[in-house]
Amino acid sequence: MLKIKMQTPIVEMDGDEMTRILWAKIKQELIVPFVELNTEYYDLGLENRDRTDDQVTVQAAEAIKRLKVGVKCATITPNDQRMEEYHLKKMWRSPNGTIRAILDGTVFRTPIVCPGIHSYIPSWTQPITVARHSYGDLYKDTEFRIDEPGKAELVFTGVDGEILRQTIYDFEGTGVLQGCFNKDSSIRNFARSCFEYALSEKKDLWFSAKDTIMKKYDGLFKKTFQELYDTEYKARFEALGITYFYTLIDDAVARVVRSHGGMIWALKNYDGDVMSDMISSAFGSLAMMTSVLVSADGCFEYEAAHGTVTRHYYRHLKGEKTSTNPVATLFAWTGALKKRGELDGNEALTAFGAALEKATMDTIQAGVVTGDLALLMDPKPQAVDTDGFLAAIRARLEKALA
Ligand code: NAP
Ligand code: MG
Repeated sequence: MLKIKMQTPIVEMDGDEMTRILWAKIKQELIVPFVELNTEYYDLGLENRDRTDDQVTVQAAEAIKRLKVGVKCATITPNDQRMEEYHLKKMWRSPNGTIRAILDGTVFRTPIVCPGIHSYIPSWTQPITVARHSYGDLYKDTEFRIDEPGKAELVFTGVDGEILRQTIYDFEGTGVLQGCFNKDSSIRNFARSCFEYALSEKKDLWFSAKDTIMKKYDGLFKKTFQELYDTEYKARFEALGITYFYTLIDDAVARVVRSHGGMIWALKNYDGDVMSDMISSAFGSLAMMTSVLVSADGCFEYEAAHGTVTRHYYRHLKGEKTSTNPVATLFAWTGALKKRGELDGNEALTAFGAALEKATMDTIQAGVVTGDLALLMDPKPQAVDTDGFLAAIRARLEKALA
């Protein structure tokens, strides 16, 4: 079979542990046999991040700015335990945080809904997309451990020397302190990309935050969304019969649970991080969630929403076969290939991405699934291991492409 050619490379970011194993298997079994894969490769595995003082992460993000499409494997965000395990020079920041700060965009996460896989919330018949702002807030915070009594103040010095100063707390003992920020421009980009995405998907848009508590901080988000909606998007939304509204996050959580799904739910950085895990788990499995970071200047970075599946990796290292679900990582690849095809006018590449997704869904629907999915099916099929699952997808893909 003639392999599909690619004009422009994709930025390929390798990662850690079990997902690094999945990454290689997916390429070897399902992509390289069919596509003359053209990538610019960056090894974001923890050892290489440590070796390069994390410069490799910055270089990868800059490459995405240049080439417009990237695909990323899950990576370890180091903590104390990882410092010891990997003998790290420094507790490097989350690679996703670094990349998001450079690209400044919105992460859209959508569950992969498949007939036969039952949601834990029966009323959810349509996927819920979480739109997560991915700049600033807690992911670019400044923190102090306070180990003696003293006064904590918030100080801002303007360019002309004008100073704003307010006491945060008079510590009578030890404690902890945190400062975070966001920018008008980033909040505006966030709101704009959510409105644009809602229009392109023809779905309702909800935005929720906590402006009753953080009147200025979350208040700015709420105001920015509303102003942009009223001045630029209202007419276009009404023409499509879709709606936008703001509601407090507590109210939104309650309403989402009672809904049929089908909306785009815009959330601040931390809220989106937490809620997307809840949504994906409720729809079935963390491994059945697509995730794409869209920047205001049209860069697309695809990844899985889950982590490096450490528990499975340790079993893999002991020589055991694991039934780790590769679907989210696989859909990161198909998303990137389809987008590359779309941007380059390469229809064969876009069609290949779609065929690979269909082969995957058909395999699941036929009851050939990994352990996490078997639990959600009725009757419960015998789970296969990762290799068995990938081989079944490949057989279907070969038939479809023949
Ligand atoms: P995780 O890797 O998402 O795994 C949590 C659990 O969810 C797994 O132990 C497994 O449950 C289940 N799971 C997740 N993905 C699965 C898959 N593909 N197939 C089957 N089951 C799956 O989260 P974590 O254990 O909290 O974090 C591990 C590492 O990942 C950490 O070092 C963290 O820093 C990193 N992380 C990276 C990203 C990212 O790069 N985007 C995101 C989150 C976390 P069972 O063990 O019960 O089967
Ligand atoms: Mg998370």
